[in-house]
Amino acid sequence: MSTSDTKVNDLCENLDDCKLNVEEKKISDEELFKQPPPQHGDCPICFLRLPTFDTGKRYYNCCGKMICSGCIHAPVYDDQGNEVDNQKCPFCRTPHPKTNEDIVRREMKRMEKDDPIAMFNIGNYY
Ligand SMILES: [Zn+2]
Ligand SMILES: [Zn+2]
Repeated sequence: MSTSDTKVNDLCENLDDCKLNVEEKKISDEELFKQPPPQHGDCPICFLRLPTFDTGKRYYNCCGKMICSGCIHAPVYDDQGNEVDNQKCPFCRTPHPKTNEDIVRREMKRMEKDDPIAMFNIGNYY
């Protein structure tokens, strides 16, 4: 196998450089076939890609998740299998904030965790 090794070495003066190029090419090929990255990734509940339009998803400031409208409107059942009032976060089950103060307090908490959406929302409150 020493002959073929020599050939490879002849082609690439520096083997590490050669490997790097191959890796880079692989990534760019993958990028080519990938769809443009969605703004907020996938829904954390159903793992479907979030729609790009705002009405198709909703930001929850309790856990800082973007949740798709399908999961937001999905019926929620309690332990007995009864449909319950769906006024909770579908992801972490935190009840929705009732007052603006609650909302701001939650956004503040998210902001401490460097949540860019919370920062943006807080900016809108002031
Ligand atoms: Zn979903
Ligand atoms: Zn939540």
